[in-house]
Amino acid sequence: MSTVIDGKALAETLRSRIKQAVSELQAEHNIVPGLAVVLVGENPASQVYVRSKARQTVEVGMQSFEHRLPENTSESDLVQLIKELNQEPQVNGILVQLPLPAQINSEHIINTINVNKDVDGFHVENTGRLSIGSDSLIPCTPAGCLILLKRTIGDIAGQNAIIIGRSNIVGKPVAQLLLKEHCTVTIAHSRTRDLSSTCRQADIVIAAVGVPEMVKGDWIKPRATVIDVGINRITDNSGKSKLVGDVDYASASEVAGAITPVPGGVGPMTIACLLQNTIIATCRQRQIKLPEAIS
Ligand code: NAD
Repeated sequence: MSTVIDGKALAETLRSRIKQAVSELQAEHNIVPGLAVVLVGENPASQVYVRSKARQTVEVGMQSFEHRLPENTSESDLVQLIKELNQEPQVNGILVQLPLPAQINSEHIINTINVNKDVDGFHVENTGRLSIGSDSLIPCTPAGCLILLKRTIGDIAGQNAIIIGRSNIVGKPVAQLLLKEHCTVTIAHSRTRDLSSTCRQADIVIAAVGVPEMVKGDWIKPRATVIDVGINRITDNSGKSKLVGDVDYASASEVAGAITPVPGGVGPMTIACLLQNTIIATCRQRQIKLPEAIS
């Protein structure tokens, strides 16, 4: 049986360091970092995420600003709000919850956010900086995956990693991060041939597909480390609704050296990394050093 990588516990440790960092900023610079979260529409999953982000922001001692807009909000009204938040000194981080309604161009909205307040790390400038290995705000889920990997393996240089999924918010940035850490990276996607045999070559498997339990135990190299980013709600045989990942946990955990569960793996790390990014963004805007607790 493999080691279970406890993302919930690690996220709790990270949050307590962030809380300490917030106290340091307040004591030494009289700054209380602020995070603005913008939700357009009534998507139930987005509402849960936004509530959770706001609650955890306040719990670590930061200011939380929530903006809830109706489903039929126009792109120009949303742009206007973001421009105001860009100018607001109490707001150090801006997150626009995705997905946005169809009438709004997400790319335009993301690139309207001030690059130094882009705590999701999706702005084209942050994306470009990550791809050339320079300093940037790093997308939260990929950052969480990297912390989990390093805690589990230590030095990951030279490892063969497969990323299954090439989205702009998970697959591609995870691949860039692992390249920066000197892994040999394969990015697989819906058109990849012989995915299971390519996957069996990998020391590190990161599944970010959105297909419930797709990655089976016999795709995994013995003792590999498996990070399951997927969050899928399914109905089990007894008719109960439950969350599963993109990895078939039962069979994969028989083979892997270490594996993240769903829930309780990558998910909790994502919000902890968002809070960390808000502190990093604050320090960059104020041109001060990162607090000891998170440096
Ligand atoms: P996406 O739909 O944008 O991208 C999915 C990717 O998987 C695409 O690149 C596609 O090519 C690839 N893919 C689809 N079917 C495939 C197949 N059969 N074989 C190989 N590749 C295939 O999804 P996303 O936004 O990257 O999210 C992926 C998963 O991660 C989802 O389950 C999502 O809910 C979850 N997620 C979790 C967190 C978290 O905090 N844990 C954050 C973001 C996303």
